[in-house]
Amino acid sequence: MKNSLLIIFSLAIASACQPAKSPKPGAENPTGAVVPASVETRPTAGDGANDSAILINAANPAASLILGADTGGGLELYRLDGTLVGAMNERRISLVDVRYNFSLGGSDTALIVAYDSTATELVAFRLGDDGQSLVQVSGGAIETKAEIEGLCLYQSPLSGKFYAFAAGKGMIQQWELYDQNESVAARKIRDMPVGLGAAHCAVHDAERALYYSQETVGVWKLNAEPESEAEAEAISLAEPHGPFVGDVKGIAIYEHQDGGGVLMASDADISTFQLIDLSTHERLGHFTVAAHGGIGSVDESEGIAITSMPLSDEFPRGLAVVADDYNDGNNTNYKILSWADIASGLGLPESAGTNPTLKLDSLAVTVSPSVETEPVKSYGDAADDPAIWVHPDDAAQSVIIGSQKQHGINVYALDGSLLQSLADGRINNVDLRYGFSLQGKPVDIVAGTNRTTDSISIYGVNPVTRTLENLADGVIATGMLDPYGLCMYRSPKTGSFYVFVNDTNGLVKQFELRDNGSGRIAAETVREFKIETQTEGCVADDETGVLYVGEEDVGIWKYSAEPDGGEDRSMVDSTEDGNITDDVEGLSIYYAANGEGYLIASNQGADSYAVYERSGDNRFIGLFHVVADEATGIDGASETDGLDVTSANLGPAFPNGVFVVQDGRNITPDERQNFKLVPWERIASAMGLETYNGYDPRATSSNP
Ligand code: CA
Ligand code: CA
Ligand code: CA
Ligand code: CA
Ligand code: CA
Ligand code: CA
Repeated sequence: MKNSLLIIFSLAIASACQPAKSPKPGAENPTGAVVPASVETRPTAGDGANDSAILINAANPAASLILGADTGGGLELYRLDGTLVGAMNERRISLVDVRYNFSLGGSDTALIVAYDSTATELVAFRLGDDGQSLVQVSGGAIETKAEIEGLCLYQSPLSGKFYAFAAGKGMIQQWELYDQNESVAARKIRDMPVGLGAAHCAVHDAERALYYSQETVGVWKLNAEPESEAEAEAISLAEPHGPFVGDVKGIAIYEHQDGGGVLMASDADISTFQLIDLSTHERLGHFTVAAHGGIGSVDESEGIAITSMPLSDEFPRGLAVVADDYNDGNNTNYKILSWADIASGLGLPESAGTNPTLKLDSLAVTVSPSVETEPVKSYGDAADDPAIWVHPDDAAQSVIIGSQKQHGINVYALDGSLLQSLADGRINNVDLRYGFSLQGKPVDIVAGTNRTTDSISIYGVNPVTRTLENLADGVIATGMLDPYGLCMYRSPKTGSFYVFVNDTNGLVKQFELRDNGSGRIAAETVREFKIETQTEGCVADDETGVLYVGEEDVGIWKYSAEPDGGEDRSMVDSTEDGNITDDVEGLSIYYAANGEGYLIASNQGADSYAVYERSGDNRFIGLFHVVADEATGIDGASETDGLDVTSANLGPAFPNGVFVVQDGRNITPDERQNFKLVPWERIASAMGLETYNGYDPRATSSNP
């Protein structure tokens, strides 16, 4: 279907006698289409035309400029007619990119980032007020250390943050760029190993995707968000698996207004450009740029820059700037192609372009952590589920108890430091309740699912040492194949304490906890029911008597938490036609007065958190993300398993309570997993939620 459409387009174009040399589309013709260059720039000063960027003048698009990075010289600025406007020759520059609306000293700035190949550092500039000079706006050196062959900028449509990707030596470095005292500062976010030969890159903001070329291999795609898995997807490969004949060099994207686009890649050894559809990954065609109208052919192009924004009558559908490595005996230069010529030469359908100077208008709700815990000792997926314990006398002495599912259970102070690491098998989920009566004395108890012994581990919290002590009456067998999720419940009716355990097969068992008479806690099964598929996260509401359970691929269910509650249930939200993306993971409740407050779920599949009203039918309120904090350098949270929240005052650091999440990817720098702590007021203000300052977790049903 697509092919026949292309043929019809190209026939129509051929009969209209558009560029005379234009043959059938690439797929039909092994030599591809032939497209003329509209303009060429003056020869570069240093004979090293390598990479370019387009600096759009939003007020007067025809006055937009081309930035040329010349490996033998600096940065040169050209008008769209190819004439030289100005140059920055103090540094050797081989790569350059542009992003708009970077807030610098409070004003939106078109940010130009270049790579200084002598100093091996990134340098940020803005266009001078004279419109022809470049003013350095980065402060300290942004050292890439390794030699860089590809550079591209990204503004996250999720957080609004700016990033630079720098590729070279088998690695792509991701840097966050931010305003620090009115100059551009950078912080290394992560290194992504991508294989040798990875060089040029291009970012598609709408897809949150980074594309990069790898010389002899092809074009790959990575998620550009810092909190994502660095797992590359092959987009288009070298022969015989794909269209590329020689080394793949520069790449750039022609963005469509509807979100799709076309990736143009330099198949440099054969001086050909390949066009790949971003949605289907199919080749749309290929072309060469032949000598035409006094402008020479384009040979062995390195870098490419593209805009789909109409700039002038000559470039009504935008343009592509390509470096020409052999300029008929003169120094290398850049050729400017009208996209209208490329589209007609290859029979590409008409599509509206984008204006990259527009400000993002659909940012997600984001908050940042103020504290992160020490990383766990085990590699891989190891931290899992936190529970917040509120100290009875000194709120600032409260602790975070976190399962370390390869090893045991950890206790952290509110500054993130480790107070205790208790080896006790593979503890998966944890929860706690206050004031269990043991031999007539109230004890705060913690329960965990122990997958080493398929049992329930039970500990008491020693308020003096702030550490856990084993209180289980031996090994409390669950009788389950794979005890996984866990949450606790104290009945407002009877005052009895319960533990819910969820098996990975969906079986849910409710255990009642008892004082065994000799200082230990025993448990007895009082109820069980089956959910169809894997369940883990759960939370019970000690005031309303409701149990919420997450069926990971399906949604959030609501049951009675009472032992005689049976199997009646209703659905709070669904991954099918609701607001959440599987897996549904950890659940917790923010208690406010009069049954008000919030139910919060880890929306793991979208690296966000879902908020619902605690009362009534749990109306969905919205989603938020936990992203990096510039001031402290603490990274955001993603792929969250367990979480917990409290409205209790935890002292000066968290006077309005805290939200704690497991972070599946602890980066900046790369470290083993940990937990992130977000002050509640940050979430309340970002999401428009209430802050309740009267919660006493020990009062349970006596809360108003
Ligand atoms: Ca040439
Ligand atoms: Ca995990
Ligand atoms: Ca899970
Ligand atoms: Ca993280
Ligand atoms: Ca988990
Ligand atoms: Ca970190």
